[in-house]
Amino acid sequence: MTLHCETFTGGPFETNAYLVADTDTGEALAIDAPQNTARIIKAAADAKGWRIGQIVLTHSHWDHIADAVAMRDLCEAPIAGPVGAEAALAAPGTFFGGLDFAIPPVVPDRSIGDGDTIALGGHRLAVLHLPGHEPFHIALYDPAAGVIFSGDVVFPGGAGRTDLPGADPAAMHRSLRRLLELPAETTVYPGHGAPTTIAAEADWMRALP
Ligand SMILES: [Zn+2]
Repeated sequence: MTLHCETFTGGPFETNAYLVADTDTGEALAIDAPQNTARIIKAAADAKGWRIGQIVLTHSHWDHIADAVAMRDLCEAPIAGPVGAEAALAAPGTFFGGLDFAIPPVVPDRSIGDGDTIALGGHRLAVLHLPGHEPFHIALYDPAAGVIFSGDVVFPGGAGRTDLPGADPAAMHRSLRRLLELPAETTVYPGHGAPTTIAAEADWMRALP
């Protein structure tokens, strides 16, 4: 039962998408959909013989959802978005003001929140609601594999921005404290930047008020 993860980066903010697969069953999951990544991720899955059966969005910011509709069309897979983010997903771009290109509105097939579980082959990924950067932000945590896909909550060396509309620094601190309860060796796959671990980030996370 092996969980395999590949990273794809797209868009002006170098946003990460993840192709996650149970290599025993060939079942795959796409996490986030930055600009111009859908075809590349689909081709990568096809090359491995994996079938992308679901698309999960960590939060509503446009750099994470720009290719979500394209991904759904290519993979014929449903989109799961965070509970509460439906209005923001349907009006992408509003968080960062005027964009000079259009982001297709996203209407998720399903909304997921804290306590929900995503099944991927033999794996079970727990949905964690981690607000702060964005009110409805979720992460996917696989305790058996020891990995968390954290979106824009934790990056190497710091937390996600809390100066954006809808952001909440106090909520972010609560979310970070919750992440500190995970096993220290847990690998963190962030929404931007390189993978890290809870242990590597614990000092600055603990130092926050
Ligand atoms: Zn964001």
